[in-house]
Amino acid sequence: MPEQLLSPSPLSAPQRALQKLGLVRDMDLALHMPLRYEDETRLSLIAQVRDGETAQIEAQVREARIETRTRRQLLVTVHDGSATLMLRFVHFYPSHQKTLAVGARVRVRGEVRMGFAGREMIHPTFKAVQGDVPLAAALTPVYPTVAQLPQAYLRRAIDNALQRADLSELMPTELVPAGLPALRSAVHFLHKPPPDAPLAALEQRMHPAWQRLKFEELLAQQISQQLAHEARAQLKAPALRAVPEGLPTQLLAVLPFTLTAAQQRVVEEIAGDLAATAPMHRLLQGDVGSGKTVVAALAAAVTLDAGWQCVLMAPTEILAEQHWRKLVEWLAPLRLRDAPIQVAWLTGSRKGKARAQERARVASGEAQLIVGTHAVIQDEVQFARLGLAIVDEQHRFGVQQRLALRRKLTDAGRGLEPHLLMMTATPIPRTLAMSYFADLDVSTIDTLPPGRSPIVTRLLPESRRDALIERVQAAVAQGRQVYWVCPLIEEGEATEDDKPKTDLLGRPPLDLANVTATHQELSEALPGVGVGLLHGRLPAAQKADVMARFSAAELAVLVATTVIEVGVDVPNASVMVIEHADRFGLAQLHQLRGRVGRGATASVCMLLHGAAVSATGRDRLRAMVETQDGFEIARRDLEIRGPGELMGERQSGDNLLRFADLQQDEPLLVKARQAAATLLKCQPAKARAHMLRWLGERMELLKA
Ligand code: ADP
Ligand code: MG
Repeated sequence: MPEQLLSPSPLSAPQRALQKLGLVRDMDLALHMPLRYEDETRLSLIAQVRDGETAQIEAQVREARIETRTRRQLLVTVHDGSATLMLRFVHFYPSHQKTLAVGARVRVRGEVRMGFAGREMIHPTFKAVQGDVPLAAALTPVYPTVAQLPQAYLRRAIDNALQRADLSELMPTELVPAGLPALRSAVHFLHKPPPDAPLAALEQRMHPAWQRLKFEELLAQQISQQLAHEARAQLKAPALRAVPEGLPTQLLAVLPFTLTAAQQRVVEEIAGDLAATAPMHRLLQGDVGSGKTVVAALAAAVTLDAGWQCVLMAPTEILAEQHWRKLVEWLAPLRLRDAPIQVAWLTGSRKGKARAQERARVASGEAQLIVGTHAVIQDEVQFARLGLAIVDEQHRFGVQQRLALRRKLTDAGRGLEPHLLMMTATPIPRTLAMSYFADLDVSTIDTLPPGRSPIVTRLLPESRRDALIERVQAAVAQGRQVYWVCPLIEEGEATEDDKPKTDLLGRPPLDLANVTATHQELSEALPGVGVGLLHGRLPAAQKADVMARFSAAELAVLVATTVIEVGVDVPNASVMVIEHADRFGLAQLHQLRGRVGRGATASVCMLLHGAAVSATGRDRLRAMVETQDGFEIARRDLEIRGPGELMGERQSGDNLLRFADLQQDEPLLVKARQAAATLLKCQPAKARAHMLRWLGERMELLKA
């Protein structure tokens, strides 16, 4: 084969930059929108430009000199018949001096300011003009770009792409919201607005041309979601039906409580999905402590009854371990076809022979229920008959793990797709539910189990630490158990497995000193009291041991990092102390507080804070004192922090909406949703064409 075919001609630096920015197809370039505009459509007279105004003038160079005062600079005086103006350059090249030679006519654009020596522009853009050079007919776009990609190159590339890109109207006009321009004119308008275009509306992206673009984008997203929903409905899943006197009935009989009405309702919703022949794709949301685990256990019970395997995946090893204990405790007395239930346990820390053995039990089908961290979806794990996958605290998993899960589900069932149940304590705001999560069915547990006494939340300055330790001592004397959380923010172990447990010099990371010092301090201040220490960098066996001793009340106080943030359930613990509470996010504080208030004892949450708390820190602490309602907390969090983080790792999917802003554009979102449904029904080919036009290569990410 000739050499050239093997190694294609190398790309130039700007071409590589274009590729890196994802500007590959003509359509990509056509949809690369300006950040702002420069007005080169008119000339102003120097005398008429106000200070602080950005303007373009045309003038003749009267004087050009290099001066060295504080630093070397090029000073050029120009005159346009109305007044003089100084151009000042601190960075300049010989080419500057050449263009700005005395006598030259130049067109200059910049901000006019009052300087020491009169009115001046600092580092204006300029070009020489000879004879009659026409002014720009449209505003000049300024595009987002990178160093290797000069603005002028990018402009040319976009200009060319605009000639070629297919911007034909794919949608029947009646589906486009009234008052919005055609796609082609909207796109052209945004790249080259006429001189009199309303700049504010353009830059705030409120102009009808912008609205049209956002509508197109939202429509593409809605179409892809609705198609995903349809595609799933076409898939075949095992129909899992509860049998009379089967596992769920037995489980309900051994539980130490009865289900709340809300739990019963979601259990029925889930059972309905499981019995269907299309795979379930359901999100179970319920506030911290609302009792999602037992719902998961019942879904697992139905699955096992039907002769299929169920896997439960949790984001941290501690949580996985706790689920495993709880499920074993609940399921141990039950009989599945006259035999005990087989549970397998898979996490990153289980290595070697033990791991191989567990995997073999999963592959042979001997293990019916599999519990673990994301280790359960690794390629090496093969399921014999996977019927249901349950993901706890799903927002803690990253996009890569979601994709891995999806792949696993696709090949797990050999033609039959397993059902999927995701659980979260972080409620999804309406706009997100309608957009990124539109392909999910949602069940909500909206009440807490009875008998919970509300948690009293108090703020306490760090200076009262000693008094607080005395209160902890008193509480322990009454048989109560205490969490004491220090601000070492730990990521879910789902993403942590490969991280070093020490820094490069082999020392523990800095914040770790904090949690160990506090452990020491409390151990000394509370003689005779069992004080445990728990953080993510302990060996898994040690973590499990500490957690087990705290659960068994052998330890009265648990000094911990945020590893206990999600899921951990020790009902007898009724005091939560959070150090440096102002450094935590609101959702995180709420999750941490949710570790107490799980039993009948009245619980308290003490938020320790330093003397200087930032304004947002104060807002968060106030919200914590004022409300205990997860939905209200989520609403305030959205207010304080914006929507990004609520989606957890879906953030990278966030980029899929480049133009629309879910907060601001909710009305458009509603219209796009209806239009997507209509278009899919009446002109499905056009709907698909529209989606491809917009999403191109990025389709894969949407499945995460
Ligand atoms: P979360 O929804 O945060 O995962 P859990 O499933 O951990 O909550 O449940 C919190 C606690 O409430 C657990 O101790 C659980 O056993 C208990 N619980 C769950 N449902 C009920 C109920 N219906 N009545 C009483 N206690 C319940
Ligand atoms: Mg939970």
